[in-house]
Amino acid sequence: RPERPAGATVAAPAAGQYDEAASKAILAGYGVPVNESRLVRGADEAATAARELGYPVVMKIVSADIVHKSDVGGVAVGIADDAGAAACYRQIVDRARAAVPTARIDGVSVQTMASGKLEVIVGARRDAQFGPIVVVGAGGVLVELLSDRAIARAPIAAADARRMLESLSVWPVLSGYRGRALAVDAVVDAIVRVSWLAHDLGSQEFELDVNPLIVDVDRCVAVDARLRVG
Ligand code: ADP
Ligand code: MG
Repeated sequence: RPERPAGATVAAPAAGQYDEAASKAILAGYGVPVNESRLVRGADEAATAARELGYPVVMKIVSADIVHKSDVGGVAVGIADDAGAAACYRQIVDRARAAVPTARIDGVSVQTMASGKLEVIVGARRDAQFGPIVVVGAGGVLVELLSDRAIARAPIAAADARRMLESLSVWPVLSGYRGRALAVDAVVDAIVRVSWLAHDLGSQEFELDVNPLIVDVDRCVAVDARLRVG
């Protein structure tokens, strides 16, 4: 019987559509590591936020009307200095306006850049037949190309989360076949915690996408997430 991990005691969120920042705040409430971010509304403010967070940073468009941010040129990684952050602010807003002229733009997210060797996707939803389920697979741009996924009902025990990872074709990358092993235990813990959120949401219809969870040798961190409840 899976046991609820310490620190995953937050009540499930109310019905609604949560953007990246709100979704990551909910994940953080369940003890899933997320990167730090700030919402800014101007080029100078972007540079200040970037300096405070520490370079390099990532910048992303924030708009409820733009779901796939990189499809509209709305994601920039590896910004290295104040001038780059200020220029990037204008570029991201211009690109988004050009791609989706009707979009209401709330600003730009400036966030710490995660380093990692592998991107993993952790999804969850309520299945009509099985109730809350969690899907784990290879993430990033390959997510639609690779049918490399493992599915389990929530909540998930750590040993079962580990078996899900072992069943993926990216498992050799995680376990360090040729090279250094990645933080498997951290990914297992993140899956378990997402599964408790899914469990807590289980009486409602919901859909959660953590894409990607960036995995390094000593940690993993969720850098993008989207949750819809109800
Ligand atoms: P979307 O999925 O809406 O296009 P993401 O926020 O997932 O936008 O960003 C697209 C890609 O950019 C990610 O899959 C990841 O490779 C990279 N990325 C995004 N945020 C970060 C970050 N904070 N640190 C490192 N890489 C990131
Ligand atoms: Mg994404």
